[in-house]
Amino acid sequence: MPADAEKTFDIVILGGGSGGYACALRAAELGLSVALVEKSKLGGTCLHQGCIPTKALLHAAEVADSAREGEKFGVKSTFESIDMSGVNRYKDGVISRLHKGLQSLVKSKSIEYVEGEGRLVAAKTVEVAGRRLTGTNVVLATGSYAKSLPGLEISGRIMTSEQALSLDFVPPRVVVLGGGVIGVEFASVFKSFGSEVTIVEALPRLVAAEDEAVSKQLERSFRKRKIGFRTGVRFAGATQSGDTVTVSLEGGESIEADLLLVAVGRGPVTDGLGYEEAGVRLDRGYVVADERCRTSVDGVYAVGDIVPGLQLAHRGFAQGILVAEEIAGLSPSPIDELGIPRVTYCDPEIASVGLTEAQAREKYADVETFEYGLGGNGKSQILQTQGFVKLVREKDGPVVGVHMIGARMGEQVGEAQLIYNWEALPSDVASLVHAHPTQNEALGEAHLALAGKPLHVHA
Ligand SMILES: Cc1cc2nc3c(=O)[nH]c(=O)nc-3n(C[C@H](O)[C@H](O)[C@H](O)COP(=O)(O)OP(=O)(O)OC[C@H]3O[C@@H](n4cnc5c(N)ncnc54)[C@H](O)[C@@H]3O)c2cc1C
Repeated sequence: MPADAEKTFDIVILGGGSGGYACALRAAELGLSVALVEKSKLGGTCLHQGCIPTKALLHAAEVADSAREGEKFGVKSTFESIDMSGVNRYKDGVISRLHKGLQSLVKSKSIEYVEGEGRLVAAKTVEVAGRRLTGTNVVLATGSYAKSLPGLEISGRIMTSEQALSLDFVPPRVVVLGGGVIGVEFASVFKSFGSEVTIVEALPRLVAAEDEAVSKQLERSFRKRKIGFRTGVRFAGATQSGDTVTVSLEGGESIEADLLLVAVGRGPVTDGLGYEEAGVRLDRGYVVADERCRTSVDGVYAVGDIVPGLQLAHRGFAQGILVAEEIAGLSPSPIDELGIPRVTYCDPEIASVGLTEAQAREKYADVETFEYGLGGNGKSQILQTQGFVKLVREKDGPVVGVHMIGARMGEQVGEAQLIYNWEALPSDVASLVHAHPTQNEALGEAHLALAGKPLHVHA
């Protein structure tokens, strides 16, 4: 081997977001040699433009609402205003601390971290900054980008979540295009920050991927919070004049706003990266991968948002770990996509796992459901929140879906996912003691009821 020739790594990973870095860390733990290529910031979308900044904004929003609503709890407090520079300082501080921690974690392992934009130039070779990194295995983890609609240019006051995360002002009027997870989270933040908000969604309901009962409850809660929404309505176009955006809808109606947030989904970052040329099969831009994240090319894997399915950071982590273990020969179990917990952090929060009632009715001959209202749950009453825990089970069989809505209910998804993934019967969960007074108790009570022994349930 010539002195300047590069060694062959066990794994070369393209993209240092949730999927890519989790794969790198687990592979290094398993003693594999790893090169991790990242063109921007280690941590990817989730840390810098996704989960963490949005949840920081949502927390600031909750603090604003607490200040407004003190009276409800006998606390004299007033809400003055939102200082966006203070909000951004807080948010950026959280990101920066996590980013530093992650950088030192990667540095502490034997991971070769390579900065620069990489491209797959052969099935097992990534070229970056004039350097060729060859791996026995290659993992594609280049993530996703915020999509727009045909003819809708992202500029000025028309923006995606990426620009909306570093606003230095609170827009008085906002139109949110898209009533999915990102759309309703931002709508929730803007409302709490004092904006007048209208969501425009082409589908018949908000958070259309969730159980229908959850959408209904969210719409009820949003109405109460005076968050406007137009469902089953198509966007026709938008024009900007100065700082005003005029959004027109099919049917002729138009809405004036100071900001249009485009939240119509995310597309895979695969274009121009040499994937297809190397033989990796794509489908509408997504990398086709099997349940072990193997692509059409032997030794080339794909993880995270570029693989069709739930675009969630913890799915990326799990796939990254799975691939590292697969390469190390540990034969890990494939991931059940339905068993991945889903949380939407708007107020009220939504958390779910498994099948919706409609999906369960398609799959099973007979289905039983139970909805436990948070009205009977002490802690939820203390928090003054409304919502429910809805269980879906195959008749006389295990729980196949858990759907929850209410303030802080995202925190309950841990037990819900254990229940789903362990294929628990309602009676299994009913025999476990849930602490009082917690919102977790609502999960226990729902299972008690479905097991035929309801406690705090009005007939
Ligand atoms: C507003 C918003 C809120 C979200 N909130 C949540 C949440 O609360 N919970 C949750 O689970 N998920 C959330 N997500 C989704 C989550 O961020 C993604 O699912 C996750 O980041 C996907 O990880 P990934 O590794 O596939 O891609 P990414 O995190 O996008 O990482 C891909 C990385 O690859 C790099 N890259 C791309 N091309 C190249 C190249 N050619 N060379 C080198 N590097 C390259 C990019 O710079 C990037 O760092 C949110 C997303 C958004 C946008």
